[in-house]
Amino acid sequence: MGRSKDLRVHLPDWITRIFPLAIWRIPSGEKVLYLTFDDGPIPNITPAILEILQNKGIKATFFCVGENVFKYPEIFKQIKDEGHSVGNHTFNHLQGIKCSTEKYFNNIEKANEYIGSNMFRPPHGWLRRAQYRKIARHYKIVMWDVISCDYDSSLSPKKCYENVVNNIRDGSIITFHDSIKAEKNVLEALPAVIDKLTARGYEFRKLEFPQLYPLSRKERIKNRIKDTKNNINRLMKGA
Ligand SMILES: [Zn+2]
Repeated sequence: MGRSKDLRVHLPDWITRIFPLAIWRIPSGEKVLYLTFDDGPIPNITPAILEILQNKGIKATFFCVGENVFKYPEIFKQIKDEGHSVGNHTFNHLQGIKCSTEKYFNNIEKANEYIGSNMFRPPHGWLRRAQYRKIARHYKIVMWDVISCDYDSSLSPKKCYENVVNNIRDGSIITFHDSIKAEKNVLEALPAVIDKLTARGYEFRKLEFPQLYPLSRKERIKNRIKDTKNNINRLMKGA
């Protein structure tokens, strides 16, 4: 059971190094996996996924679209009330490649008024370098190690199941979707994936990061220089 060569399912490690501050996988030497669900909340689909997770006694992470949280606040509340984590997936599934850094960041901030999370996952996974650098100062960017490809309606639920169980490794972050496109595949593949991997000895956890994760050394120095400049400006004005 080798890892898939399908780039949609699993990216080679050299690509993940382009975004070194992002989280792709959390290897800890333990048999732990992280289930994530993108694009919701959506009526019927998100609650059906929540029911599966509740039945299996599993906590997961939902990367929500701000507009959907605005439209379906009661489903969003249910996700949180049932003990799952939530992350930001922009206000309207905006693609970074298609807009300026300022517009993109404002869109994320708008979504966060409804979501309230320090985790961010970019739709389609792609960001401009400048966007990546700016967002990483404010959010933990969470990517993935394995994608089920449940959104592709030309695939069978069995294929989506295989995409996951044949490609996970310790600490994998796994992506499914609570979207209309993915409904057929995710609702059938998810319980089978959970059962198979639990039988293989894996435990599932939700993603959580301390509210203020440490900034990089470079960031800290940059902030210190900015503070010093501001202090000097203030002193000059006061003089
Ligand atoms: Zn998405």
